[in-house]
Amino acid sequence: MQSFNLNNLLRPHILTLTPYSSARDEYTGKVGVFLDANENPIGSTTDTGDYNRYPDPHQWAIKQRLAPIKGVRPEQIFLGNGSDEPIDLLVRATCTPGGPTHRKDNLLIMPPTYGMYEVSAAVNDVELIKVPLTPDFQVDTDAVLAAIRPNTKLIWLCSPNNPSGNLLQADAIRTILEAADHSLVIVDEAYIDFADTPSWTTELDNYPNLVVLQTFSKAWGLAALRLGMCFASEELIQVLNKIKPPYNISAPTQMLALDALNHEAEKNEMVRQILTERQFLAEKLRSLPSVQVIHPSDANFLLVQFNDAKGIFEHLIEQQVIVRDRSKVKLCGGCLRISVGTRSENERLIAVLQTMNSAQPVPNLPLGTGDEATKPQLVSNA
Ligand SMILES: *Cc1c(COP(=O)(O)O)cnc(C)c1O
Repeated sequence: MQSFNLNNLLRPHILTLTPYSSARDEYTGKVGVFLDANENPIGSTTDTGDYNRYPDPHQWAIKQRLAPIKGVRPEQIFLGNGSDEPIDLLVRATCTPGGPTHRKDNLLIMPPTYGMYEVSAAVNDVELIKVPLTPDFQVDTDAVLAAIRPNTKLIWLCSPNNPSGNLLQADAIRTILEAADHSLVIVDEAYIDFADTPSWTTELDNYPNLVVLQTFSKAWGLAALRLGMCFASEELIQVLNKIKPPYNISAPTQMLALDALNHEAEKNEMVRQILTERQFLAEKLRSLPSVQVIHPSDANFLLVQFNDAKGIFEHLIEQQVIVRDRSKVKLCGGCLRISVGTRSENERLIAVLQTMNSAQPVPNLPLGTGDEATKPQLVSNA
């Protein structure tokens, strides 16, 4: 990795940018009479606590707690408003946009994969290179190496991959990390807690071009908080800090995340339970005549090929069981993506699938009742 130089990767104006300096950047003491941030000194218009003061712009309390759990230094951590924020910031920091006639920089993705990489390229008007995964959803290493160009700034890998569910082979990731010494290689590990493998964070000190994304949205059970983690060299983290909105993580999110980090054992217990359910679900699905392939999963969902994906998807919706239709996605023909639910949710799904071609009604399960009806609607775009 001799030739890697982050400064050559950054857009020139990002290198020279003077960031916004917030009140909490300029005075970091904890006690005093705070008349520097135009806050309301009296209190907040809420019954649930006082939120009148701006939060820590660098979330040090979380980073100090998170660093030993992840085996990294606090300075190697960036926290974002979901993973969406570091995904977008990485594109904006490195890729100079260009219209169709004068493409400047580009980024490389390997479909089928998480949709946000392509959306972020499109939002930023950045050229996209697609190198499909092989039919067993592994990296086509030779094709990737051949597709990398001098102005390929970002290479996106998702492991375990969404929507296929499998881990990418470590050898392939290592080959790309070593060959792509003028690109950032990002490994999105949103589902790493469900996989039986070490995180790529263990390699951060060996590869200055490595970026690892994780999230509180899946195993930690905190999708509504919107908190994503990005691990990289201290140099790159400083760049992301420079271009992020100053107070990107709210005070309630910081408080709840700190609390969650004291409950890692509960997270691990939920992961164990979900893995048991994943196996239960796979076994039940295997016995159904409509199921053709259950792809191996290292995540908390299964990609399942059915004989009539569209019909089954619609039948499930009619019975208020909602799964993700991936049948139009590259290499996923006939496939639905099914999140692993609780035992009763999984049994409900199986019961509905079993009655698909019979006139038998499915007995009702109490769904979406009680408190659920009065809660704000949470929309899943994962
Ligand atoms: C769910 C998911 C995320 C998480 O996104 P957040 O914005 O952190 O909720 C990131 N990457 C992949 C591949 C995912 O499936």
